[in-house]
Amino acid sequence: KLRVTGLHKSFGPSRVLCGVDLEVPAGAVVSIIGPSGSGKSTLLRCVNRLEEADSGEIFLDGACITRLRGKSLDAVRRRIGMVFQQFNLFPHRTVLDNVTLAQRVVSGTPPAEAAERARALLARVGLQEKADEHPARLSGGQQQRVAIARALAMEPEVMLFDEVTSALDPELVTDVLDVMRRLAEGGMTMVVVTHEMSFARDVSDDVLFMDGGVVVERGDPATVFTDPSHERTRRFLDRVL
Ligand code: ATP
Ligand code: MG
Repeated sequence: KLRVTGLHKSFGPSRVLCGVDLEVPAGAVVSIIGPSGSGKSTLLRCVNRLEEADSGEIFLDGACITRLRGKSLDAVRRRIGMVFQQFNLFPHRTVLDNVTLAQRVVSGTPPAEAAERARALLARVGLQEKADEHPARLSGGQQQRVAIARALAMEPEVMLFDEVTSALDPELVTDVLDVMRRLAEGGMTMVVVTHEMSFARDVSDDVLFMDGGVVVERGDPATVFTDPSHERTRRFLDRVL
């Protein structure tokens, strides 16, 4: 479904991605762990083309999307949903509007149909009662779930999550992770950058450990977490587990 090969990215003199490969089969959940500055966010941003890679290729469903421009880039971006640490909801719009906006503006979905789909998505993330509220009246965890519903509204084939629980109070993390867990169980193809090691261990099909712009280790979570083959992975896990 999603495949990345030999991705390189530098910012000026600093080499942030040094030949990263990533393979996410349809319906699989791949978690990416690693220390701050290891290039995890840059990798996700390159995948959905928010950032331009210096070299390497990105394939979605077998088609190379690395150098798409203009309308075809917009079209491919719609197939890749992304949720960030900061939810970036529109503060002056209701929750429902936040979820329907892209559908109405980008896809031209009739308002009634967009609203109906948005309500169904809000129910899926447990927020059907909040449709008419403004984001400021919601908790961080609720706002993040709205952001997930908003991303899902475009009916993406792949979802990218970049530390979506890192800005949340601990007691709000579970609700967001539960939504992601159900999404995974529902067969969504997902790439999840996370500090939540138990989520990575329980939900992922594959775990990648990144350090210094390279994938140091990858494998099934049971192996990576209990018996990593690299010393760097071991040291990282000793610090975070
Ligand atoms: P964290 O866990 O803290 O989110 P990360 O693994 O996501 O870290 P990145 O955000 O990908 O790391 O950053 C990797 C490196 O690239 C860092 O040294 C960062 O300072 C640098 N970097 C990222 N974006 C830019 C940019 N737009 N301009 C210059 N340097 C950047
Ligand atoms: Mg990051």
